[in-house]
Amino acid sequence: MSASQQQEKTLAKKGDARLARRLLGYLRPYRRRAALAVLLTLLNAPLMLVGPPLTKAAVDLFIAPDAAKPLAGYEVALRRAALYLGAGSSPYRGLVFIGLIFLLANVLGFAVQYLHGIVMQTIGQHVMFDLRQQIFEHFQRLPMRFHDRNPVGRLMTRLTSDVDAVNEMFTVGVTSVVRNVVAILYIVCWMLYVDWRLTLLSFTMLPLVLALTLWFRGGARAANAEIRLLVARINAFLQEHISGMQVVQLFGREERERRIFDEINEANRRMGVRASLFYSSFLPLVEVVSVVGIALALWRGGLQVIAGLTTLGTVIAFIQLARSFYEPVGDISDKYNLVQAALAAAERIFALLDEPAPGAGPARPRASREARGRIEFRHVWFAYDAEDWVLKDVSFVVEPGERVALVGHTGGGKTTITNLLLRFYEVQRGQILFDGVDIRELDLTELRSNFSIVLQDICLYSGDIASNIRLGGGAVSEERMVAAAREVHADDFIRRLPGGYAARLHERGAGLSVGQKQLISFARALAFDPRVLILDEATSSIDTETETLIRDAVERLMKGRTSLVIAHRLSTIQSADKIIVIHKGRVREVGTHQRLLAERGLYWRLYRLQFGHKDGLQDLIEAGAVTP
Ligand code: ADP
Ligand code: MG
Repeated sequence: MSASQQQEKTLAKKGDARLARRLLGYLRPYRRRAALAVLLTLLNAPLMLVGPPLTKAAVDLFIAPDAAKPLAGYEVALRRAALYLGAGSSPYRGLVFIGLIFLLANVLGFAVQYLHGIVMQTIGQHVMFDLRQQIFEHFQRLPMRFHDRNPVGRLMTRLTSDVDAVNEMFTVGVTSVVRNVVAILYIVCWMLYVDWRLTLLSFTMLPLVLALTLWFRGGARAANAEIRLLVARINAFLQEHISGMQVVQLFGREERERRIFDEINEANRRMGVRASLFYSSFLPLVEVVSVVGIALALWRGGLQVIAGLTTLGTVIAFIQLARSFYEPVGDISDKYNLVQAALAAAERIFALLDEPAPGAGPARPRASREARGRIEFRHVWFAYDAEDWVLKDVSFVVEPGERVALVGHTGGGKTTITNLLLRFYEVQRGQILFDGVDIRELDLTELRSNFSIVLQDICLYSGDIASNIRLGGGAVSEERMVAAAREVHADDFIRRLPGGYAARLHERGAGLSVGQKQLISFARALAFDPRVLILDEATSSIDTETETLIRDAVERLMKGRTSLVIAHRLSTIQSADKIIVIHKGRVREVGTHQRLLAERGLYWRLYRLQFGHKDGLQDLIEAGAVTP
């Protein structure tokens, strides 16, 4: 079992009053509706359970009246009402009278239940909405470190099935627990009121039912936890494989992946069947046990009727009630599991919401002013994991308006530098200054608003072109968008698309060429008119046809702003004001193209390698830059 699964398990175990209280907090905005729901629940049980007492009255008053035996208080009242309404004179009329009351009570009961359902569902939907909103907002604030650690599938589970579980608890779980408790109390009180000895007799099997319930509860909880783990695994697997479908197909891994999925799926099925066997055995078992109590009541009550100690109506009503008693008892255990599952889900949701989101920035961020775009790294040390340093004592300066290129081998730490600059991660040692201010003292949103970044894998969203350039926001006007697109040569091809700027893109921009996607992302970068532009290997996967177009677009992008370019292609960075060679997390060389070539160091070797000198690779091996 992996650490994360273990974590899910331990989280699932907790579940207490504190949690319930926090959950109830979500009801606060809807407390009036919730109060109405409780009231309706209280009304519901007596209305729905009016049958047995009325049966007793019908038998005692009209079917088999026996003047020798005492009537219950409500029977006396009923008889009076019947007489008053002129229905007491004959058994025929009396029975119609009682039948009508029965009907009326049940119609009312159903109306109450219906209303209650609507109120509860509305509350549930509202709570779900609030929760999802809150979780998503939190996701967006959580640091990249968190997202690195947590598979998308698992986070999706939080937002979907965990939220559903909480909703179900509010709409079904809590409601039926309350309703059942009311029903049980009502039944017990009524039985005790009419005949406490018979009551005790009918409940002789109660301890056994409770034992059964406990057994069921324990087993169901374990099964639920197991199922949840398996579902999370399926989700994580699917997420990864659907988004990586191309790789799966490209490498012909379908059969292999199918087999792995088969295994996970199979585990799910087996567990599901086991759980349902367990679930479906519970209520029948309770039923069987409860029948013993009912039989006892029948036997004892029958004897009492014969001996003239109690009325026939009492025994009939008793048996009816004893039957209806076990139903809410069973139902409570059933729903208790639902509540348990929801509490576990809530626990996981809250654990997520409690993940600190440092994005909020300092308590009193520096007052904003016009950014100049000066960047300085001062002895920066950084590791993604523990002490596994990815950047070691990195220092450099990028002056405002300067065009700086970061070069070096894959894995050297170039992307990491931009991640730190944008505060996707926090540095462990040293500091990063933006316009002379430590970036930790800047408001995060404000800091990032100074940057536009173009990455190698271009992030396009499903939606039209315009919203992809403007990122949906009103911050970019229509004119500015078109101007930006024109500037980077994207306007032409966009206008040729059916619908132009309103042309819809598929997920991740499928349907456009890489070059076209690139141009769109350039237009986006330019439309926001940033102080600093970061291109991270943005031009490395472009076909030669669009290359000149793109190169010109990049030139225009960088004009008049600080830019940080990471590139494989040395040709695209020769014109940089400063080239910084990053190697194994250290700054190895800094200078212009000409100077670095003259130094005959790492850059020179890289350059020679790229331009096909046959001894270039050998040079690099000697320099320790690559391992053969
Ligand atoms: P470059 O951009 O120069 O190719 P990166 O900055 O992407 O290099 O990566 C530098 C090192 O950091 C690599 O060894 C890489 O494996 C590691 N690394 C990058 N991103 C992460 C991450 N999110 N978690 C852990 N390690 C990472
Ligand atoms: Mg990189």
